[in-house]
Amino acid sequence: MSPSKTRRTTSICPECRKPLDARIFTRGDRVLIEKECGEHGRFEDVYWSDAQAYRRAEEFARDGAGLENPRTGESRGCPFDCGICPRHLSYTLLGIIDVTNRCNLKCPVCFASAASAGSVYEPTRDEIRGMLENLRRNRPVPTPAVQFSGGEPTLRQDLPDLVRLAKTLGFLNVQVNTNGIKLSESPNYCRTLKDAGLDTFYLQFDGLTPDVYRYTRGRDLVDVKMKALENCRRADMRSVVLVMTLIKGVNDHQLGDMVRFAAANYDVVRCINVQPLSFTGRLPNEELQDRRLTISDFMAGVERQTGGAIRSADFYPVPSVVPVSQAARLLTGERFPEFTAHPHCGMATYFVPDKGTIRPINRTVDVERILAALRAAVRSDSRGRKNLAKAQLLMALRHVKGGWLRRYLWSLLKKGSFEALRDLHFRLIMISAMHFMDAYNFDAERVRRCVIHYALPDGRIVPFCSYNNFGYRDEIERAFGGSERGREA
Ligand SMILES: [Zn+2]
Ligand SMILES: [Zn+2]
Repeated sequence: MSPSKTRRTTSICPECRKPLDARIFTRGDRVLIEKECGEHGRFEDVYWSDAQAYRRAEEFARDGAGLENPRTGESRGCPFDCGICPRHLSYTLLGIIDVTNRCNLKCPVCFASAASAGSVYEPTRDEIRGMLENLRRNRPVPTPAVQFSGGEPTLRQDLPDLVRLAKTLGFLNVQVNTNGIKLSESPNYCRTLKDAGLDTFYLQFDGLTPDVYRYTRGRDLVDVKMKALENCRRADMRSVVLVMTLIKGVNDHQLGDMVRFAAANYDVVRCINVQPLSFTGRLPNEELQDRRLTISDFMAGVERQTGGAIRSADFYPVPSVVPVSQAARLLTGERFPEFTAHPHCGMATYFVPDKGTIRPINRTVDVERILAALRAAVRSDSRGRKNLAKAQLLMALRHVKGGWLRRYLWSLLKKGSFEALRDLHFRLIMISAMHFMDAYNFDAERVRRCVIHYALPDGRIVPFCSYNNFGYRDEIERAFGGSERGREA
């Protein structure tokens, strides 16, 4: 592999938020990002702590074409006033709607600064319907998934109704982002949401010991989290994502335990999603680099703490699955969402929990060869050689060693059976990391390819890392908030 050249991008000043030219470059084993503000000096941060893993991810880069119906023009340039703009390169895969800024916790690590805001922001049902419809209006692909977030969305009494509304409008996957307190109180509550059509709980789950929660959430929540999971089980709500905010010296030694915990609870846990902490406030360069965790630290931690059962090389970046969507389109004629995020935004793999052992999917499937076969099939198809393309897809099965998995994939490829895919999903656990950016490691090229977007009540749809770095939350809460609009739980 040839070493990546220095990459130029646009970042922002952590002090004044002015756009700055930035340089991403390799020094030793690490990839760094550097920029200088005329007024506030030079900033240097770790972009990825493993240059080799960085380059491997880069090879899977796949750009999309963005939206056919952008909602805003561009004056400052994507992503600085993107909402979504004509220059944005991906369409929305996950829409997020903040349904309240009220919260029943005061988390020291909350990026929404919920509970500290001066006034209540709580969009009405009609405003939420408008945002949902707006997300579904996206072309060429209507937003397939939506997450109700906040604040703590379960404080809204009409949450089941909002879930039903989202399902009625055609969202394939409806999620609620929650701290689990409400879920821990009753299995009936979990069942009510499930019956309303909820697909997934996105459950904050920072670790397995009280000290972790005292640090991240201000109180011990271990029992609450365990009770929440148990109530999901009793309500037959079998799709829970454990969301872990990763902090050096606090819970970065619990990655292996989280894998084993998920495996032991695989009847309800579908995914562990790890998010390295982003920073606010002023940090000197050395302190920043000392506290910074990146996706490659996460992968190395998983490898070390699972005794090599899951290796760093088992992880693939988000856009690596673009050929899978293209192949599915080829088989069915339907247009499937393409995950054209930047390769350095997230990495993931799947593992199969099997009688106490952890087997990453890579031991059963030759991922590189399958992806190559899918790419070849898509190429043949684009040259009009349909039958060859289908034959190439079936040949791709040679790279699957496990009999059970081959059976699933066979019915998927041969009969286009997506029930097979759903069944398969329940036999696997995904482990992934998503690194949301702060002002220190902000890279405009990543945001331009962002696939996770906030829907705003004014009709804009804003990329995740723009929303959380450019003061949108304050702006929206000021414009649409006010305690007289708030509803009491
Ligand atoms: Zn500055
Ligand atoms: Zn844009």
